Amino acid sequence: MENTIADFIDFIEQSPSSYHAAEVVASRLQDAGFARVDETAQWPSTPGGYVMVRGGAVMAWVVPENFTGEFKIVGSHTDSPGFMVKPNPDFRNAGWSQLAVEVYGGPILHTWFDRELKLAGQAVLKDGSRRLVDTGALVRIPNLAIHLHREKNFDPDRQVHVQPIIGLDADDVSFAEILAEKLEVDAEEISAFNLITVDSQRGEVFGAGHKFLAAGRMDNLSSVWASMQALISTAEDYSGEDVLVLSAFDHEEVGSASRYGAAGPILEDVLTRTAAALGKNEEERRQIYARSSCISVDAAHSVHPNYAVKHDPTHHPLIGQG
Ligand SMILES: [Zn+2]
Repeated sequence: MENTIADFIDFIEQSPSSYHAAEVVASRLQDAGFARVDETAQWPSTPGGYVMVRGGAVMAWVVPENFTGEFKIVGSHTDSPGFMVKPNPDFRNAGWSQLAVEVYGGPILHTWFDRELKLAGQAVLKDGSRRLVDTGALVRIPNLAIHLHREKNFDPDRQVHVQPIIGLDADDVSFAEILAEKLEVDAEEISAFNLITVDSQRGEVFGAGHKFLAAGRMDNLSSVWASMQALISTAEDYSGEDVLVLSAFDHEEVGSASRYGAAGPILEDVLTRTAAALGKNEEERRQIYARSSCISVDAAHSVHPNYAVKHDPTHHPLIGQG
């Protein structure tokens, strides 16, 4: 069990952004014998394990010797809430250099204050190539001193009060140059970036009997990791008749309607092309869809001991008991 927890913490560390999570899943599946699929090339039709990455999403599937069953699908998501760096983010105020950010998804705003934050995601260079970015601790959203802050409720403005500091005005900080240095390219070579704030603190086991694990991005890397482990162990000596599918989508926190979100075409692309590669016509494919199943796996909130009255009085989620 200790090794399992340590591996899960490593997985979270290696996955600061959705783009990293997708690549980590792909590389672990490739280590387990899955073949990486390029969706611009011919789709594979032979039995075996396959994995495909599109942006911050990853799809993996196991094709059986004899596909007479259904698609058995597990769905999860790779993204987590935070703050996205805006384009041209540098601005200066009252002696500080700051980065302009916007809220991504539904973070609990006050939990992001007074932490050293990394920026992680991807940058696209002018030649069209993509680079993953993990800056290490770089910025911080500072709290207001207690004696300047007498309001009863802490309710930070989402545009004004959550802008992180990155340096001093006098240092003439340029975010493009910081990013270029991390990527070891010239600043002019960077065409665009997609970066989110990430808590730099590593996950930790705590509590009586070491029962608890605290880490960022548990929603929903816990499900991504669990479905990946399940697929690897099931694929090892799989003799069933179903196509087993892992789908880990991006952009769940902002409505899923993107090229690699759950409301986009990525899962259907994988299922349609797999069915076609296995010789199924459209009518047969529709029949397979009708008998297929998908488990949506996500994190949920247990009943809170200090706010138990906030939950349904008779049907509340008990910790460790569902
Ligand atoms: Zn979730």
